[in-house]
Amino acid sequence: MLNVVFLFLIFIAVLGVMGKLRLIRPGGSRRRTKLPRPRKCRACGRFLLGSAGCDCGGTR
Ligand SMILES: [Zn+2]
Repeated sequence: MLNVVFLFLIFIAVLGVMGKLRLIRPGGSRRRTKLPRPRKCRACGRFLLGSAGCDCGGTR
């Protein structure tokens, strides 16, 4: 009987850890999506705001 209770407590503990991991992951993904990586021109080093190339004519 003690083994059954022990396994039940472990099962609840695992569920708690899984819940914590689920709560942490979406917050991190939201932060990542909010701040995309800024692109820099390889030729002159300026930041590229749009998807178009740089004014200097260099490649991305
Ligand atoms: Zn450039």
